[in-house]
Amino acid sequence: MLIDTHCHIQFPQFDADRPAVFERARAAGVGRMVVVGADAQSSAAAMSLAAAHAQVTASAGIHPHRAALAGADECDRLRQLVRQGPVAAIGEIGLDFYDRQTRRAEISAPARQQQEWLFREQLAIAVNSALPVIVHCRQAHAALLAIIRESAYRGLRGVMHCFSGDCAVLEASLSAGWFISYAANITYPSAAALRDAVVRTPLERLLLESDAPYLAPQGGRGARNEPAAVKGLAIYIAELKGIEPETVIAATAENAGNLFGWTRAQEKR
Ligand SMILES: [Zn+2]
Ligand SMILES: [Zn+2]
Repeated sequence: MLIDTHCHIQFPQFDADRPAVFERARAAGVGRMVVVGADAQSSAAAMSLAAAHAQVTASAGIHPHRAALAGADECDRLRQLVRQGPVAAIGEIGLDFYDRQTRRAEISAPARQQQEWLFREQLAIAVNSALPVIVHCRQAHAALLAIIRESAYRGLRGVMHCFSGDCAVLEASLSAGWFISYAANITYPSAAALRDAVVRTPLERLLLESDAPYLAPQGGRGARNEPAAVKGLAIYIAELKGIEPETVIAATAENAGNLFGWTRAQEKR
């Protein structure tokens, strides 16, 4: 079965028709979704969704975009949520140095430091709770790789979600033992380098994600995305790699189970 390892269907964009979104996912063969938090509130919402739906697994974390607002209080709330559980991962967390106003990697030094502080706080939560991490990284790969190589985080497992790095970053992430997750932005005309990265990513490290409501595939670009779209993504990746879609689907499902730790019994539900 297909696994959407990264979506935000707890967001208000889905409040009006969430049951239909679940139904289209089921019809597309998506058997499990990891619903990912972006702050304490949306992490709690992901956990509520997981409590109500057997096919949902929750992840809790504070996105780097929220770093300017998220202080020690929000980290405490996150720790509390993780203690309550169950969550399968800490995320999404990471670094994003892209300035959406200027469209360049040039956010201020204090803003970068705040993101790095928040990232380290949450890596510590992952280490202490023995959970994997879901990492968001945009235009910040050198800083991010340097942090995850620090001795305090040795042995940490994780996924580079919506991978956007170059070949060197791919090699570094793979040799650190990380999984690499691709979203439908690999279908965009400008994404030739990402398609090359897909080809270079071994099947046993590959994950699929929608990142819904974001990153609708080329063709529906700009519209609200949803988990059912990972079916098309699996077919697209199979074509890039010159293998059967079933091979991609089986491998990515096994990888997701390995990373997030659900059992085969749960998978068959
Ligand atoms: Zn992200
Ligand atoms: Zn996301």
